[in-house]
Amino acid sequence: MIILVVNAGSSSLKSQLIQTDGKRSLLKALAQRVGKPEATITFTFGDDRNAQKETREIPNVTISDALNMVFDLLESDERSPIESLRQIDGIGNRVVSGGEYFTQSVLIDDDVLSKIDECSAIAPLHNPPAVECIRLMHERLPKTPQSAVFDTAFHHTMPAKAYHYPIPMRYYDEYHIRRYGAHGTSHRYAASQAARLMGRAEEDLGLITCHLGNGGSVAAINHGKSIDTTMGFTPLEGLMMGTRSGSIDPAIITYIMRRDNITFDEMDDILNKQSGLLGVSGLSGDMREVLAAADQGNERAKLAVDMYVYAVQKAIGSYYAIMTRTDAVVMTAGIGENSAELRKMIFSGLAHMGMILDNDKNQVVGAIGSDRIISVDDSPIKICVITTDEEIRIARETDALIVLAGRGD
Ligand code: AMP
Repeated sequence: MIILVVNAGSSSLKSQLIQTDGKRSLLKALAQRVGKPEATITFTFGDDRNAQKETREIPNVTISDALNMVFDLLESDERSPIESLRQIDGIGNRVVSGGEYFTQSVLIDDDVLSKIDECSAIAPLHNPPAVECIRLMHERLPKTPQSAVFDTAFHHTMPAKAYHYPIPMRYYDEYHIRRYGAHGTSHRYAASQAARLMGRAEEDLGLITCHLGNGGSVAAINHGKSIDTTMGFTPLEGLMMGTRSGSIDPAIITYIMRRDNITFDEMDDILNKQSGLLGVSGLSGDMREVLAAADQGNERAKLAVDMYVYAVQKAIGSYYAIMTRTDAVVMTAGIGENSAELRKMIFSGLAHMGMILDNDKNQVVGAIGSDRIISVDDSPIKICVITTDEEIRIARETDALIVLAGRGD
């Protein structure tokens, strides 16, 4: 099938046309800083080996305008990989929050769309642009099935003791404040690939999966089910991240707001965009840049890396404590997949728990898609590296939903 995957963010739009049979990317489009004067859209034609790129400046466009540009290009550009939009068999939408409504991916109808819209209250930056894009695509391609693949769905199996917060229950009853988690599709994929790599059934395993990218979260996956995860009501909780603080004493927030006399929005911006690696290093939220500065002796950068490693170690340790068994720790996303240095720092502190890194295997730079085990052969708990590809996963889930609904060819 040919599936268009659409990932609408607060100020970006990622989309990719994917042929699911051969796992081939036909076209990628990435619009960044949408709504701002410096907005751009980059099209990548063909797969990674022979890719050709074109970047256009698109000042002040809306997310709908950016999406229309993708459709216009697919429809009429001579480099378009398809001859007609009718060749698109389905559209897979990444949706950040399905709230308590959705425990798995679904095909979208009016009822689903209105529930996604309702969940905008708990994901105000992400769900509204997704809804806008879904509506627009329904107008352009009314007969093409669309799916919603939720970041939250995989974590619906968490028990009440993991998802409730110790605050008055009326906030759960009235405002639905609870842990929802995020990166669900990534944790699910990392767990299933790790089980495959180990030649075991996921149901027989206890896995701790670490999605370490710009955003980061760790999940405890007991017998194939998520039982806890570090992200919470929003993706701000948990690990220290690129620009997000992760968990801090909540009293700090009111203290800073009073002292600096700042607004809720300003505080939100500090915690989401000015904290984490960026806030501590004062340099960058990008791990590669922070590591490079640390290597050159920058003390703040070194502290930022130390704090990052410490937060991941604490998360792994706390999930080890709540699992009935731990067979493997799984590393995925930009930092988890690519940084041997960070992995070495993380696991050098965890050998006493039976997670013993093989330094040679850790150093091997894997080709894209090369999932591997990097612990020593007799490590009681394996350490795996799994390459995540969110768009492919969304495309595959959409393909499966369409087949299940009997709406494919
Ligand atoms: P993602 O959000 O999954 O794209 O991950 C982005 C993060 O991965 C950024 O902080 C990058 O600096 C980091 N990253 C990517 N490659 C490497 C690498 N080789 N070493 C360290 N960090 C990396």
